[in-house]
Amino acid sequence: MTQAVFRKPFTQQEGIPEAGIKRAVEIMQTGRLHRYNLLPDEVGEVAALEMEYAKWQGADYCVACASGGYAIQLGLRICGVKPGDKVLANAYTLAPVPGAIHNVGAVPVLVDIDENYHIDCNDLDAKAAASGAKHLLLSYMRGHIPDMDRVLAVCAKHDISIIEDCAHTMGAKWRGIRSGNFGKVAAFSTQTYKHMNSGEGGFLTTNDAELAAVAVVSSGSYMLYGRHGAIPAEEVFQKVRLHAPNYSGRMDHLRAAILRAQLPMLEDNLARWNQLYERLYGHLSAMGGVMIPPRKQEEFYVGSSIQFRADALAAGEVPDFVAACAKRGVELKWFGDAEPKAFTSRYDSWRYIDDIPVLPTTLRVLEKTLDMRVPLTFTIADCDMIAEIINDEIQPFLKN
Ligand SMILES: *Cc1c(COP(=O)(O)O)cnc(C)c1O
Repeated sequence: MTQAVFRKPFTQQEGIPEAGIKRAVEIMQTGRLHRYNLLPDEVGEVAALEMEYAKWQGADYCVACASGGYAIQLGLRICGVKPGDKVLANAYTLAPVPGAIHNVGAVPVLVDIDENYHIDCNDLDAKAAASGAKHLLLSYMRGHIPDMDRVLAVCAKHDISIIEDCAHTMGAKWRGIRSGNFGKVAAFSTQTYKHMNSGEGGFLTTNDAELAAVAVVSSGSYMLYGRHGAIPAEEVFQKVRLHAPNYSGRMDHLRAAILRAQLPMLEDNLARWNQLYERLYGHLSAMGGVMIPPRKQEEFYVGSSIQFRADALAAGEVPDFVAACAKRGVELKWFGDAEPKAFTSRYDSWRYIDDIPVLPTTLRVLEKTLDMRVPLTFTIADCDMIAEIINDEIQPFLKN
C-alpha cells in the first residue's frame, strides 16, 4: 500500500493583500521610502501604521522598528538595563531573546519552565531573590501565556520591571487583556513567520510617556521625532532628546504600507489560525502516544503553531519519528535536540552565557516536545491529513 504524502510547505504564508502591493508600488514610484522623507503636511505610512497599531493594541505609544529583536533590545535599554545587569528570562524561547540581552551587555539569568511551556513562577521567585535582577524579559514562546496574576505578583514582590516579548502572541489575551499590556514595554515582530508579515519588522509599545520619547529618539529619529504617529507631547521630548543615543533601527514606508493593508485582516486571521489549531488539537489530544498540554481558561491564544509531546517514545527514538513524519511531508521540529537546527535551539547551546544553569523541567519537557507551524495556507482537510500521518507514524513506536 502506498501511503499518502502531505505536499504543502509548512513555511508558506499567504500573499500580501492587493491593497498593500498597490500602495507599496505607489511609494516606490515616489522614491520616498525613508520614514522622514515626507511632503509638507504628509503623515507618512510609518506614522500612520504606528497610530493604527497603537489603537489596535490598546497602547498609548508605538514605535515601528527594523525587527522584533531590535524592539526587544530597545525595550531593555529604555527600561534602564545597563552592561553587567542581570536580566531574568524563561529558558524555553528562541535565540533572539537571550541575544537581545547580550546585545545590551547584560547577563541572561535563565528561568525554568513548567509542564505546560510557561515560565515557572517558583523558579522565577527563587532566581529573582538569588540574582537581584530588576528586569524580566518574558517571552510568550509559541504563544503560551503563563498565569499572569502570579507572574505580576512575583515581579511586584521583587520590584522587577517586565519587558514582554510578544513575537508569538500578537492578538492573544489573558483575562481579556492583550498580551503586551502587562509590562512596562512590549515588543512585537512582523517578520514573515509571525502574525503580520513585512519580511522584517517589529513594534515597541508602551504606556509610559518618557520611555516612549526615549524609544523614539533612540530608534534613530534624529531630531525629526515630530514626524512620528503615536508619541507623547513635545515637552517630554525636550526632557530626553539630548540624552537618548541614536541606535538606528527604523522601519521604512514600504514595509509599513504592507503592514497597514494587513492590520484590518488581523482579527479574522487570528480566528482562522484558531480554527486550524483546534482541529489539530482535537486530533492530537485523542491520539495514543502523544500528549498535548491543556490551555488555561483565562488564555485567549493564537494557534499559529502547535506543540505536543511524543510521550510514548524514548528520547533516542524522537529523531526517527521526526524523520518518518518528514518522509510523508509533515515537518516537525524537535525542541529537545542538543544540536541547534534551523530556528530551533535548546538553551544550553547558547554558550556565550556564563554559568548556563541546569533546568530540569525545561530539559525534560523539551526532550519530547515537537513543534509544528500552522500557516494560514493550510485548510481543515490539511489538518486532518497531517494528524492522520502523525497517528500512522507513531504506531510502530507504541509498545503493546
Ligand atoms: C521571531 C522572534 C523574535 C525576534 O523577532 P525578529 O523580528 O525575527 O527579530 C523574538 N522572540 C521570539 C520568541 C521570536 O519568535
